[in-house]
Amino acid sequence: MTADNKKPLFFDKNTAEKIAEKIGTPFYVYDEKGIANAIGELKKAFAALNFKEYFAVKACPNPYILTLIKQNGCGVDCSSLTELMMAEACGFKGDDIMFSSNVTPAEDFVLARKLGAIINLDDITHIGFLEKNGGIPEKICLRYNPGGDFKISGAIMGAPGEAKYGMTFDQILEACAILKAKGVKTFGLHSFLASNMLGNKYWEKLTEVLLELTVEIKKRTQTEISFINLSGGIGIPYKPEDRPVDIYKVAASVDKKIRTVCETENLRTPEVKAELGRYITGPYGVLVSRVIHKKDIYRHYIGLDACAANLMRPAMYGSYHHITVLGKENEPSEMVYDVTGGLCENNDKFAVNRELPEIDIGDLVAIHDAGAHGYAMGYNYNGKLRCAEVLLKEDGSFKLIRRAETPADYFATFDFEGAEIKL
Ligand SMILES: *Cc1c(COP(=O)(O)O)cnc(C)c1O
Repeated sequence: MTADNKKPLFFDKNTAEKIAEKIGTPFYVYDEKGIANAIGELKKAFAALNFKEYFAVKACPNPYILTLIKQNGCGVDCSSLTELMMAEACGFKGDDIMFSSNVTPAEDFVLARKLGAIINLDDITHIGFLEKNGGIPEKICLRYNPGGDFKISGAIMGAPGEAKYGMTFDQILEACAILKAKGVKTFGLHSFLASNMLGNKYWEKLTEVLLELTVEIKKRTQTEISFINLSGGIGIPYKPEDRPVDIYKVAASVDKKIRTVCETENLRTPEVKAELGRYITGPYGVLVSRVIHKKDIYRHYIGLDACAANLMRPAMYGSYHHITVLGKENEPSEMVYDVTGGLCENNDKFAVNRELPEIDIGDLVAIHDAGAHGYAMGYNYNGKLRCAEVLLKEDGSFKLIRRAETPADYFATFDFEGAEIKL
């Protein structure tokens, strides 16, 4: 590792060891200040527009994080019953909740309607389903799937034509007409066409797609669109050489696109909503794990006390997560390791052929950029237990925001009586 191949951390080895002494390893640690700053910059960048962020709960479903998000003036985007319950428990209600679900169970719609959430409808058949389960609201968002490939400057960035989400062009028009007849007064449009986008062009292009649809809807059904929901998809620099998104450039390009199209097409300027997850918490969460084994066969292996059940992205997507060996930040990367967890799955590797300093048993490693879709995707395969989460507060103190699972938690679902299912 050369000096420019480093990624900074918001804590040091000494601090990590002190936390480990209290709660063991592995654990997640989040940076309150980093999250608050990210939200602050986002809001500042979009200040010229009527903008609101609904943090995607699935990225980091912890009530302490959601409370922090709320204190910083954001809403939440939920997609399931328990996410709605967590949002409710944190005091979110009404227009502060977006409900962007798909394959939605009846009880989820019922709770979403009870809380007054903005329903982001995934399919035309959900109109009747929602009507029966909670009822049709006055304000609704429609999820659009333009099909085909999603291209930016000729390059393919996503394949909506293969994605299960949203409605076709014709279905959106039909849904508008039906919903208007059923009393909907305020409409929004949503689409999510690409994920983890670095570069500054994605939202501009998405805005164009949604505004073209807005124009067609107005022409054909005389329905005004009051807001566009750009959802998530803004990426973060996982690799040291990645350049971060310039959110000010993104906002300026969205603003310009809206002003130009609205002027040409004589449209009312829509409000802009977002459901960013990764961008808000991704860089501000780190998984800390201890080296418990070293193994040398055809490759050099480092064995951690964390595994893919704690952070699934490398195993599932082959994602890069930067690794810092705590206390060895300035040592040369003279070794090449596979950094592994203990699942009986060969894809349980946090890093493959990674250049790192010589690692010893007992070292602590920090796995970077795990603050979104990290803990959240945890699972219990091989009977592995999910770890604790810790928040570094702005005042420098550390707070336990979720304890680690124990074997008792793992066995908790066997606590029932009356096992016999009488048919
Ligand atoms: C996952 C998801 C998001 C958040 O995506 P990020 O890539 O984390 O920004 C937002 N909206 C919907 C509907 C999602 O499914």
